[in-house]
Amino acid sequence: MLSTSEQAAWRNLEVQRMIAQCEFPAVRELFQTRWIDRSPEIEALLSSGPEHFFNTTCQRLESQLNRCPACGTLCRTARARQCPSCPHTWFDSAR
Ligand SMILES: [Zn+2]
Repeated sequence: MLSTSEQAAWRNLEVQRMIAQCEFPAVRELFQTRWIDRSPEIEALLSSGPEHFFNTTCQRLESQLNRCPACGTLCRTARARQCPSCPHTWFDSAR
C-alpha cells in the first residue's frame, strides 16, 4: 500500500499530466494552485524524476509482498502462512 506521501506524489504526477493535456489556461492555473502539493517531502520524493519515483515505490511494495519462504510463490493474502503452490506452511514462525 502506498504511504501518504507516496499517494500525494502520485497525485502530483497525475495532476501534472492533466495540466499538460488541458487547453484552458485558467483551469491549468487552478490545478497548479489547488492540486499540486509543494511540501518538501513530496518535492524530495519527485526530485529524481517520475521514473525514479515509480521504480523505488515499486521496489518498496515488492519487498512487502508475502511470499512462501520455501519456493517464493506469492501468497494469497498478506497474512497467509500456507503456500498456495507447495505444501510448506509457517504457522509457528514469525515469518
Ligand atoms: Zn511454497
